[in-house]
Amino acid sequence: MADLILALDATEKKAALSIAQACAPHVDAIKLGYPLILSSGLAITRDLEELDLPLIADFKVADIPNTNRLIAEQVFDAGFSSIICHGFTGRDSVQACVDVSADYGGACFVVTEMSHPGATEFFHGGAAEKIARLAMECGADGIIAPATRPERTIALRKIIGQRKILSPGVGAQGGDAAAIAKIVDGIIVGRAIYEAGDPAAAAQVFAYVRSGK
Ligand code: C5P
Repeated sequence: MADLILALDATEKKAALSIAQACAPHVDAIKLGYPLILSSGLAITRDLEELDLPLIADFKVADIPNTNRLIAEQVFDAGFSSIICHGFTGRDSVQACVDVSADYGGACFVVTEMSHPGATEFFHGGAAEKIARLAMECGADGIIAPATRPERTIALRKIIGQRKILSPGVGAQGGDAAAIAKIVDGIIVGRAIYEAGDPAAAAQVFAYVRSGK
């Protein structure tokens, strides 16, 4: 059964914490990115600790190897258990994130193809496949692939085998939770949960849907 990962992109700290707390019984992990960290600070990871859920850092790290390493160290020191980096930066940059993740006993996921319409401009034509191969060769724990284009995620699954796929684009971007949950290891849901009138109820529905029942 695919994990349900809450993309907590709410930008008001108090509201974000209350959404996280309400949804915690229904989700398997929480993904934090620039919107919440820039508005509330990195220390919000400490406020989320009591929920006892894995925290995924979605900074889509895309820099030179040394800077990637420094960023990844900050991420794991802050209490995250996984980091997401870009793959188009090349082998040495991805390897830096993978190596730091391994040093901390954490996981590294590499973006192969993004979920929005514009992603087809640069990620299609063989690039996503190349990135998926690179991610595997670097020893990444898995990849990020789009729920909005399940056929592309199936193609990428053939390259990465049993390694993990986390898939954003469910709900607000149009991806079908039930369909993608059969293909991937984790579905990532943001607005369809945190902007819902009752986020906990919305999370509960996604938790049920991804279970395939
Ligand atoms: O609100 P929504 O469900 O569209 O949020 C999707 C989340 O997944 C956002 O945090 C977005 O930044 C992230 N993401 C994505 N597509 C990718 C990688 C990450 O939508 N390829």
